[in-house]
Amino acid sequence: MREICYNSTRGGEQGLSASQAILKGLASDGGLFMPDHIPAFDFDVEALLHESYQEIAYRVMRLLLTDYTEEELRFCIAHAYDETFDTDEIVSVKEAGGAYYLELFHGRTIAFKDMALSILPYLLTVAAKKNGVTNTIEILTATSGDTGKAAMTGFADVPGTGIIVFYPKGGVSRFQELQMATQRGSNVSVVSIHGNFDDAQRGVKELFGDRDLEKQLLEKGIQLSSANSINIGRLIPQIVYYVSAYVKLRETEEIAAGEAINLCVPTGNFGNILAAYLAKRMGLPVGRLICASNENKVLCDFFRSGRYDKNRRFILTTSPSMDILVSSNLERLIYLSCGEDAAINRGLMRQLKENGVYSVTEEMRAFMQDFFGGSADEKEVAARIRSLYEETGYVIDTHTAVASAVYEAYRRESGDSTKTVIASTASPFKFARAVLQAIQGEVQETDDWTVIELLQKKAGIPIPKAVTEIRHARVLHRRECDAADMKQEVSDILKH
Ligand SMILES: *Cc1c(COP(=O)(O)O)cnc(C)c1O
Repeated sequence: MREICYNSTRGGEQGLSASQAILKGLASDGGLFMPDHIPAFDFDVEALLHESYQEIAYRVMRLLLTDYTEEELRFCIAHAYDETFDTDEIVSVKEAGGAYYLELFHGRTIAFKDMALSILPYLLTVAAKKNGVTNTIEILTATSGDTGKAAMTGFADVPGTGIIVFYPKGGVSRFQELQMATQRGSNVSVVSIHGNFDDAQRGVKELFGDRDLEKQLLEKGIQLSSANSINIGRLIPQIVYYVSAYVKLRETEEIAAGEAINLCVPTGNFGNILAAYLAKRMGLPVGRLICASNENKVLCDFFRSGRYDKNRRFILTTSPSMDILVSSNLERLIYLSCGEDAAINRGLMRQLKENGVYSVTEEMRAFMQDFFGGSADEKEVAARIRSLYEETGYVIDTHTAVASAVYEAYRRESGDSTKTVIASTASPFKFARAVLQAIQGEVQETDDWTVIELLQKKAGIPIPKAVTEIRHARVLHRRECDAADMKQEVSDILKH
């Protein structure tokens, strides 16, 4: 197996091992780490039938994490994908309304972020050990709602680590906010910022590039890393579940050996769908990658026009984890599409920073032709939750509904009847009020717990433990600051 090196998409940092790239998170030049080549599966997908999720994870991840030993990688996988998931399969596939829903929300925080964030703390602490790092690794993360809780849960009380989460005040659901505010752990902090997710994400990126802060922290034996999907250690574990979904469809003979499937992904920061794309490049039989946006449809417009334009109103929707105008991981696709030319990518990212807009060449567009961009507005999302429920009894959350609505329109307009897997990224209980409202119209109840119980009766599935747990939990975090003061906040939190 050829060793894989990781290079910055902006050319400034080259030749890192996988563990070094995971430790760093973001490259010093502001770029993202990418493997120097995309390895092909060294197994036949058919050989994975009836293998466990953990085994599939090992076979896939070892191809990209080439400096981890088998023992290290199996240790990380075993500790991440364990009984904290509410199903032994880790992910499950449910057929409803002519599509297959890949349920990625069976982990501790009932959103798909658990799929990567339950393993990242292990990948990171093993990486620290391998590289002789003795500093405390402090994770800085911006969240649109789900990453924050999943990362805090993953890192809480993990020796040698700490975590600070920034989220947009008013930009996450009440349930998401409560999930974060009640998180226990001596090494976790949560700060709400006065601004939107893009402000939080930009702020965190600036902190990573702040040499003064870096020096200040190093004197205290602290170094920063990222748990956002800009960390390659987030992306790689996400490739696994697409392979697992394919294997499940083969096991139940929904598809024939080698038959191509489409993947439809509700998209925000472009991490999840990029993992789907990497799965395809590594050899999974995949046709179209359907990129579904909510009303913040920058990506949809981009795939239709070749022009990325974030100069528009930021809209708060019922799918807050997708309320994003600057999708960080798109940079990785841009980099691949221009022949891994860091100078071209750097130029485009500078235009994005300075003018909020850039255009790609026809050649680059041709490279991306597997992607189809679609969007669904709030009405369409609610209508899709209701129609799927009425037709099949299956209840989906608002994010998944964006994808489901986009897929329905795609199927109608394109006539493409390829079997399609829709990434189901959150439990409907996480967004209970919006989901119940979609199903039955106005919801009068003011109490969130009553709403959850009402939804439980409709859906006929048990209320997840993650929901009952926070019901009586104490609020432990109340920090707030302006987006401009994030650095001060970090210094404050880490002053001891
Ligand atoms: C984070 C998130 C998304 C968006 O995923 P990206 O990888 O950022 O594109 C979609 N749905 C839910 C529920 C999420 O938490």
